[in-house]
Amino acid sequence: MEQLNPGVWLVRAENKARFPFAHSLYLKGNDSLLIDTGAGSILKRLTGHVDRVLLSHYHRDHVMSNALFSKSAFHIHSLDAPGVKSAQGFFKLSGLDRVPEEGNWRIINQNGFTPTDLSGFIEDGQRIDLGKFTIRIIHTPGHTPGHCAFLIEEYDTVFTADIDLTSFGPWYGNPSSDLTQFQSSIRRLRSLKPTLLLTSHSEPVTEDIDRRLAGFASIIDSREEILYQELLNGPKTLDQLIDLKMIFGHHPQPQQLYRFFERNMITKHLEVMQKKGLVTIRESGEHYEAL
Ligand SMILES: [Zn+2]
Repeated sequence: MEQLNPGVWLVRAENKARFPFAHSLYLKGNDSLLIDTGAGSILKRLTGHVDRVLLSHYHRDHVMSNALFSKSAFHIHSLDAPGVKSAQGFFKLSGLDRVPEEGNWRIINQNGFTPTDLSGFIEDGQRIDLGKFTIRIIHTPGHTPGHCAFLIEEYDTVFTADIDLTSFGPWYGNPSSDLTQFQSSIRRLRSLKPTLLLTSHSEPVTEDIDRRLAGFASIIDSREEILYQELLNGPKTLDQLIDLKMIFGHHPQPQQLYRFFERNMITKHLEVMQKKGLVTIRESGEHYEAL
């Protein structure tokens, strides 16, 4: 664990914080609080030392070790709650029941699905006073409907979970993800002007935070531009657009899973572009065409 501020530790994740691992944050004031449980076996050290667990969202790499903290009180935004309460809820939010079994297996059975008993919900603007410092919940939907960031007010430090500044860019591959919300969530984080930004999958950021967030958001615009250029070259079906692998670059095994994510992300772009009047669907109902 790496102490960042008095009472604040970054719990570094295994596997360089790549899926299915994600950094956690440990906060100790009047109460002890853990944000996310995806860091791996290092979290065993904290068993019995956590009063409350706050979950940034329902994805498996953020809730993987919930069972270690069965005596703690769990909280998550209500919109993501179904994704941790039952496997059915997880499938509904993630859409992964639409992917052939091979793909499901990798995500859901990494460590098996254990339902999490929730003590309550976190919501936008809620403040949690730990004595030495205060945590403010910032609802940042887009990646998932209930995705939240956590601002430690006294330290101008924000944990932004999967608004993670990786070179891949924003990920909105579930049916319940939302491209437009993702963009406004990034704008909102920029308006906080934090001096330390922590994410689930990258190194702490202290310099050029605003520029880094803006650059992360601009990847969405770049994807739209690539898609538009492709359609200017001629009408294409959704499957033809998926074949271009413009989002993921490659589709490793299980391929069906990556095609599913690629399909969802491209579909979200096409919906936005239709609203902007950049793209239309041909009368056949299968081909998308640039206007
Ligand atoms: Zn996620």
